[in-house]
Amino acid sequence: MKDFFGKDMAALKNKKLFLFDMDGTIYLGNTLFDGVLELLDEIEKRGGRYVFITNNSSKSVADYVKKLNRLGIEKVTEENFFTSAQATAMLMKEKFPTGILYVQGTRSFVEELKGAGLNVTTEYAEDAAAIVVGYDTELNYEKMMTTCKMLKFDLPYYAANPDWVCPYEFGAAPDCGWMCRGYEMAMGKTPEFIGKPQPTMINVVRGKFGVEKEEVLVIGDRLYTDIASGNNAGVDTLCVLSGEVSAEEVIETIQGEKEAEKPVYTAMDVTALLATLKE
Ligand SMILES: [Mg+2]
Repeated sequence: MKDFFGKDMAALKNKKLFLFDMDGTIYLGNTLFDGVLELLDEIEKRGGRYVFITNNSSKSVADYVKKLNRLGIEKVTEENFFTSAQATAMLMKEKFPTGILYVQGTRSFVEELKGAGLNVTTEYAEDAAAIVVGYDTELNYEKMMTTCKMLKFDLPYYAANPDWVCPYEFGAAPDCGWMCRGYEMAMGKTPEFIGKPQPTMINVVRGKFGVEKEEVLVIGDRLYTDIASGNNAGVDTLCVLSGEVSAEEVIETIQGEKEAEKPVYTAMDVTALLATLKE
């Protein structure tokens, strides 16, 4: 099978670990894309593994298991996921094992951090050690005010994911990166982002399964997060045109100077990967 630009994809048959983005890659909103179920079966049949890696920090892993079950992917368990909320919990555990963390995010995000044994508060706290924000689909003005009040302190400031928008069937809605830009405009502070394009999530999963870089493929619909995370981790990438990025934007990027955002392979959707594996 050839990719969108005519490049032979046969080398993808040697991959052992497939790291899928979700929104825009395997589904959009509540619609699972064609070929996904068959693709996951094919990967398993070949002795490979798949993990869904998402920047969406509004949901917990338990939420994702339920969502994918509902969409018809019945065999997934918590082992098949790694979220930016989990990556955030891991990093905070390392940096602030006992300090108070002021956290602004969804209830799921807060639970993920608490579940990791972190000392979390969602209230204004003068004695906090750090500020952590996630993609907050339960955001209201009171929460925004509290976060701004916290940002007046000179504290380490982290955000789970840098995405400007989260795709939905109707288009998109503001995500964590958008929110952080608002805080920057209000308080002049910018966070250290944790999810993709940082290579952290890929490295953690690759280490867990003991797979070589050459055996990993990252599949995603966004250049500045998914594809960049793969390049930053030194693994191959497949950009799918079923979500956010258009063919024109991929062409522009390939001809441009942002090396980290250039995909190795490009395809209309994941069925090209299925066809390649079945060849
Ligand atoms: Mg996506």
